[in-house]
Amino acid sequence: MIIAATVNEQLKHVDSDEPRILIVGAGIAGITLAQLLRGRGMHPTLIDRSADSGRMIGDNRAGYMLALMPMVDPIIEELECREAYLEASVGIDRYIAHAHTGKVLRQDHLGDLLADFGDYRGISRSALLDVLTGSDCPIAFGTTVTGLSGDGATVTLAREGQGGQKKGHGREQVLDFDAVVIADGMNSHTRRLVTRELAAIATSDSDGTAVAGSGTPSPVSTVDTTWGGWVCWAEADDDQGAVDEIWGDGFFLGIYPVKGAVGVFLGCPDTRQPLGPRRFAAEVRSRLTMLTPRIDACLTAVEEAEAPFFWPLRDSRAHRWRHGRAALLGDAAAGFLPTAGIGAGMAMESAGVLADELSSLTTGPGAFAALERFEARQRPRVEAAHDNSRSLARLMFGRSRLFAFGRDQAFRFISIRTALKPILHLLESPPKRV
Ligand SMILES: Cc1cc2nc3c(=O)[nH]c(=O)nc-3n(C[C@H](O)[C@H](O)[C@H](O)COP(=O)(O)OP(=O)(O)OC[C@H]3O[C@@H](n4cnc5c(N)ncnc54)[C@H](O)[C@@H]3O)c2cc1C
Repeated sequence: MIIAATVNEQLKHVDSDEPRILIVGAGIAGITLAQLLRGRGMHPTLIDRSADSGRMIGDNRAGYMLALMPMVDPIIEELECREAYLEASVGIDRYIAHAHTGKVLRQDHLGDLLADFGDYRGISRSALLDVLTGSDCPIAFGTTVTGLSGDGATVTLAREGQGGQKKGHGREQVLDFDAVVIADGMNSHTRRLVTRELAAIATSDSDGTAVAGSGTPSPVSTVDTTWGGWVCWAEADDDQGAVDEIWGDGFFLGIYPVKGAVGVFLGCPDTRQPLGPRRFAAEVRSRLTMLTPRIDACLTAVEEAEAPFFWPLRDSRAHRWRHGRAALLGDAAAGFLPTAGIGAGMAMESAGVLADELSSLTTGPGAFAALERFEARQRPRVEAAHDNSRSLARLMFGRSRLFAFGRDQAFRFISIRTALKPILHLLESPPKRV
């Protein structure tokens, strides 16, 4: 359960010999890390810019669906929330690939493929946050970082005033932390602060490592697919164990079950966005020669949804995760395209590795080495998954019918095992946890 607690209220529990750790962003990564550290007897300070738990939705995306790969299982175990997780989610056992016409091309038993590694489950983001927060998760709401100075340990925190006061009108305080974890999502504002400020201060950190920004063209790279898509919910149906995807010619339809509902993603090139969800869904319907009841219901859900969220399909990748005593985590480190369905899974896995590194931290400069080890262990894994999602995007988002036709033919022979090979490789060799 989420409990509102100001920064000062959270800091009261930190003993004088305990390191002070600030976690910026109470999304999937930030909450996972905070709860893991709290479970190990530490007292990290967790902040989020949202005004309250009801609005803790990360760019208005609270309600979307997630398919979680087995790499989250060790985290779920450590947080002792497996029962709640199973209760709040559905098992996904089949992946149904459709041709651009809607015809079923193949069905793969994804659940069986992943069973050796653990569960593959569908859950809504809000249900997952509920599960992860357990009985007690203090968060300082309406709080952001407006400055990070020196080696990233001196932080200016701004608290938005109540009643919708504008930025700069709230209260500010300057505090020292031993480590700062930046987990404020794909479009991280705090990441911009750290890369800009530290680059301006020096060409090397106190431990002699070159700082990103000095001689580095851009600390973050982005792939823009020039596609996006509307996200909404449809009614649960009688096939909650199956994911359906249509890789179309100028559209993409993904159908992902969660407990009590089906998440729908209808993708289109950016240039078609002005058409709006209703007209675009109607256009897709008219182009499909095969319309299953489920696809029909999901297109109707898009047509009838009230102002569904449009998700731009752009990713981001920070080339360095550690900057002084600050480190990037989750989407702030590597924001994923949805194509491999693994952003949240990798965010949780990374939080587990970072928790291992931080749980032996003492006060003082130990964070430099701990965060450096975290980056060395986890960045290559996350980048492998990130590469996989970028490769899949090149195949998924095509406009021409000829391309879609050729891809449909290839799909008859290429299994989901082949498409997810790099991810399976990661699952075969999980990070060694403490
Ligand atoms: C529609 C959709 C479908 C997806 N499907 C899947 C899937 O099937 N499987 C999967 O594994 N992943 C999926 N993902 C990706 C997954 O949701 C992300 O990878 C994951 O949420 C990353 O977690 P995070 O904590 O880094 O960021 P977020 O969960 O986005 O959390 C960021 C948090 O930071 C807060 N914040 C933002 N700015 C500030 C600030 N300046 N100061 C303080 N706090 C701030 C926000 O309020 C938010 O609470 C999907 C994403 C979307 C949008």
